[in-house]
Amino acid sequence: MFPVLEAIRRKNSYCVWYGLFPIGVGLMTRQMPVPLSDLPVLNQDTFVKTRFDLLLWLICSAVGYYVSGLSFCKSKGGEESNSFLVYDICSSTVEAIEAKINKYTRKWLGVPPGLSDVAMYCRKAKLKLPMKSILEEYKCGKARLLTMLEESDDPVVKTVQPSLKTGRKWKVTEAVDEAKECLKMKEVIGQTQMDRRGLGSTTAKWWSKTEGKEKRDMIIDEIRNKEDSTRVQKAVQQPQQGQWRKWDTAIQRSLTWNDIWHMAPLRISFLIRSVYDLLPSNANLVRWGKKDDPTRPLCQGRQTTEHVLSSCKVALSQGRYTWRHNRVLQELALVISTAKGEIHPSSTSSTVFTTKGGVKKWHGGSIPINTHRKGLLDGCDDWVVSADLPEWERHPDVIRKTALRPDIVIHSASTQQIIMVELTVPYESRMEEAHAFKEGKYLDMTKELKKDGYEARVIPVEIGARGFVGSSAYGLLSKLSIGGNKRTKALRLLAETAENSSRLIWSRRNERLLHKD
Ligand SMILES: [Zn+2]
Repeated sequence: MFPVLEAIRRKNSYCVWYGLFPIGVGLMTRQMPVPLSDLPVLNQDTFVKTRFDLLLWLICSAVGYYVSGLSFCKSKGGEESNSFLVYDICSSTVEAIEAKINKYTRKWLGVPPGLSDVAMYCRKAKLKLPMKSILEEYKCGKARLLTMLEESDDPVVKTVQPSLKTGRKWKVTEAVDEAKECLKMKEVIGQTQMDRRGLGSTTAKWWSKTEGKEKRDMIIDEIRNKEDSTRVQKAVQQPQQGQWRKWDTAIQRSLTWNDIWHMAPLRISFLIRSVYDLLPSNANLVRWGKKDDPTRPLCQGRQTTEHVLSSCKVALSQGRYTWRHNRVLQELALVISTAKGEIHPSSTSSTVFTTKGGVKKWHGGSIPINTHRKGLLDGCDDWVVSADLPEWERHPDVIRKTALRPDIVIHSASTQQIIMVELTVPYESRMEEAHAFKEGKYLDMTKELKKDGYEARVIPVEIGARGFVGSSAYGLLSKLSIGGNKRTKALRLLAETAENSSRLIWSRRNERLLHKD
């Protein structure tokens, strides 16, 4: 009974976020799993948020908390106090609990039971969900407890040499030793380049140079990394659900609890199912034994998710993809034209800086560190943005006399500069292909414009059909001096426009026209 009372008493209890919370919410918001039929497009948030539900949710969370016997409540000292880790629970029990939680989480998210736990917990996945694996938390908690006991100053603890029972499948001592070895090895190897970050942009922590809590944190991080790399390895072996591993240029999309809470249930369901290719396309229904014929009524082609969302010739000729492209283009053009309005011609860096003591002047002439990187639009204020859309301004004459029509043209008459932005909304796995194709397509045109005395450049941009922005879009906004929060918001807007349009295309996949009217 005590854990329940304690869970209620500690208001900042973590347990609700521990993957147990979906059980509670699942019970109250969705008695039934979402049927594998057509997805109507919903714009309204359909969650019920009444006081009664909240009460139910709390009770369910507390029960889950009690069942798991785990808690990572933040105590006043700031360090996690794992009051329930004193019980010897074996890892296979926790695994069984996790399997149960996964079942409910899938139901709650509206995804088929075939969705692997890689999708739910992998932190390196392109679609990162906020759920945490309870097994991983258990392992980390045990490891932290062990290291704390090992380093204890208490004479009794020192002499007793504590042993933690975690079952036969996973041994905490082995895991901690392995993590230590890995950390030592990493120090021998030294700092290497990770991801796209430049060498030296991150400061590395070294095993031999840390002490106490920092050392413990390093061990925990190492154990987490190991768990995550096991998930990535699992994804390699999944030909259908592991496709995201090949999306090299797509930027990771991370969903927070807040995002999920405000998303209509069918929207999150569509997003996850489209990423992991679990939508009920006819090809998938044949694979699952629910249907015999994988063809699409519209075009007699094989109906896969990719076919419906980006490669159907009939849909293309009907303008379904153009409609989606233009919706994204509209948003992109708006983002660019607002950015244009905020350009300050040749920004003047101030020579005054403030300290706590008051205003002080800088005496060394120019300021040595210039944090403001020069953007493409800087130093000129007669930019005109035109887009290949009916309600937008028409492209300048120089562009219109060529055979090509770029999506967006940013043009400055005084400095004879032309920036052409070419947008593609491809399937995520073909982003690089689309980028290279567009680059090649405009090569001759830029050359000709350069001959005429223009400074011309073309920037191909990809926004994935399922709502993943390409790194090219990120790069474009940076070049146009749109940074920080504004860039994040703009990219999210573009991604969501593509995703919402694709959802409509998907839901009307068997109808003869995209728009009924
Ligand atoms: Zn087709």
